[in-house]
Amino acid sequence: MYHAPLRELRFVLHELLGDERLAGLGGLGDYSADFADSVLDEAGKFAEEVLAPINRIGDSKGAQWTPDGVVMPPEFKSAWAKFVEGGWTQLRGSQEYGGQGAPNLLGIAVEELWASSNLAFKLCPMLTQGAIEAIDQVGTEHQKQKYLPKMISGEWTGTMNLTESQAGSDLAAIRTRAAPSGDHFKLIGQKIFITYGDHDYTSNVIHLVLARIDGAPAGTKGLSLFIVPKFLVNDDGTLGARNDVRCVSIEHKLGIHASPTCVLAYGDKDGAIGYLIGEANRGLEYMFIMMNAARLSVGLEGYALGERAYQQALEWSRNRVQGRPATQVRAAEGKPLPIAYHADVKRMLLTMKAYTDAARALALYTALQLDVAKHAAEDSIRTAAQSRGELLIPIVKAFATETGIAMTSLGIQVHGGMGFIEETGAAQHLRDVRIAAIYEGTTGIQASDLVGRKVARDGGATITALLTEMQAELAALKADDPTAARGKAAALEAITALGDATASVLKSYRQGAELALAIAVPYLMLSGLAIGGWLMAKSSAIAAQKSGSDQEFYRGKQQVARCYLEHVLPESLALSRIVASGAACVVEADAVLF
Ligand SMILES: Cc1cc2nc3c(=O)[nH]c(=O)nc-3n(C[C@H](O)[C@H](O)[C@H](O)COP(=O)(O)OP(=O)(O)OC[C@H]3O[C@@H](n4cnc5c(N)ncnc54)[C@H](O)[C@@H]3O)c2cc1C
Repeated sequence: MYHAPLRELRFVLHELLGDERLAGLGGLGDYSADFADSVLDEAGKFAEEVLAPINRIGDSKGAQWTPDGVVMPPEFKSAWAKFVEGGWTQLRGSQEYGGQGAPNLLGIAVEELWASSNLAFKLCPMLTQGAIEAIDQVGTEHQKQKYLPKMISGEWTGTMNLTESQAGSDLAAIRTRAAPSGDHFKLIGQKIFITYGDHDYTSNVIHLVLARIDGAPAGTKGLSLFIVPKFLVNDDGTLGARNDVRCVSIEHKLGIHASPTCVLAYGDKDGAIGYLIGEANRGLEYMFIMMNAARLSVGLEGYALGERAYQQALEWSRNRVQGRPATQVRAAEGKPLPIAYHADVKRMLLTMKAYTDAARALALYTALQLDVAKHAAEDSIRTAAQSRGELLIPIVKAFATETGIAMTSLGIQVHGGMGFIEETGAAQHLRDVRIAAIYEGTTGIQASDLVGRKVARDGGATITALLTEMQAELAALKADDPTAARGKAAALEAITALGDATASVLKSYRQGAELALAIAVPYLMLSGLAIGGWLMAKSSAIAAQKSGSDQEFYRGKQQVARCYLEHVLPESLALSRIVASGAACVVEADAVLF
């Protein structure tokens, strides 16, 4: 049973991040906390009533390949129809083309609900949204009119085609060819691992494909981006001939069985007709428009599944009676009690909730930066928010997914042996979330993006501005009792550790990129933990000031923040030591001796 954590989301949106200020930004005048709440209420119902009940069905039935195309479980097909009917595909699309223009902040909050309730389902709207954003930002007016209204309405879906068998993390190795042919191009090549590359939800699928125009330079500078529809689209919007792109197989995977992962063959007959989007040879830059949005959205998958696993583990721990916990429960008097009373089970549950809350706050804070970057009136505010958002995206992507994997694994541990048995459903969450640290750029790729492009490139200016702000805010936090004082000190200590680690990364980078790359993942995890510490300390301080109704919720917030600050955050000290002195042993290790 999944319960949409609406109160948690409202806390982060309204109380921690003060989302009302979005209404003061250009283009978001209609936004209000009440509007966000009504959207979240409806999304919560959809997630609980439509998507969660078919999550197990998707896992056991999966998508099926046939020579005529991929066939989805009927329950998924009908859920897609309801999703479209409910207008959910329109939430973030531009109003000009039939969307509702909701801010990223609300979009990310809603997507958590889709991901928790049914990750395999969530991927289709996520990739469609990425394709919509790319066409919206770089397409011609004609292309926008032709594709956007039907993609935003959910009549068609979209995909993102980067990967080839020899070109995964290294996109410079892409070989798919695009031969000029009049006003369009003919694409020839094979893409692998394409999520929702084919399905029977909709009448058309719009592929966004990275390929190399004949004669273009080698490497990423020679990649262009193309729109390749499954069915060609006539000027009046009706569907024309079947294009020369086919799904030749789908993968058998550890998880997300109902998300078809397709091998797509382009141009087996005469070449697949593709339309250049934007300028030639700037394809990777455009693809990053989709990838930034998608990386944030994949990041949320980590804590969304952490939340789902937590809910399930909590319920189990309240019902499974085992042993006599060394706890004082008056009514029990030495009788066996539910495992939720064992200190170690409490530790596991608190840890799951703590990481989930911190990652959620971090992801939503990042989404807010992207909204400010897009809509603020002043140039300087927009630029600063854009840099901060870009700094945080790899941190959210990797920190939230790596910890999501650890939390879903803890969820199994709370179940004991039954966690390992598929019947309880605890294992599906771990199997499903495992991919999130791989696709859209592995954790290693996010970490090298963080230390190279986001920290070293500007000499640490963007992260230093954030560190200074966090330090000042924490220093000003009221800490009226010893617990609050300890939490504040722990959060400040982690920020100092991150500052020292940043200086050390910058120094290593100057000495040679390899030294910095060897500790890039520990540095990224330290960043996530420490920034999470700032947000959790703020959350606790906000909760401490509340009186009146909802006391139980606010006490719960303080309890979990305390656990994060006292029990989880000290790991940042170990990570900072690894960043300071753990690189040489990796760099100097001889790969031949492995
Ligand atoms: C279920 C699923 C869905 C997917 N959906 C899509 C999709 O819709 N569209 C799409 O285009 N692709 C998709 N992918 C592909 C996915 O993005 C790639 O698998 C991923 O980027 C990693 O590439 P790779 O598998 O080739 O691994 P490799 O690049 O071979 O990486 C192997 C290991 O080497 C490390 N490594 C490689 N290069 C570096 C480096 N420079 N620095 C540090 N470490 C490095 C990686 O971190 C990893 O640990 C999907 C994959 C899966 C499994």
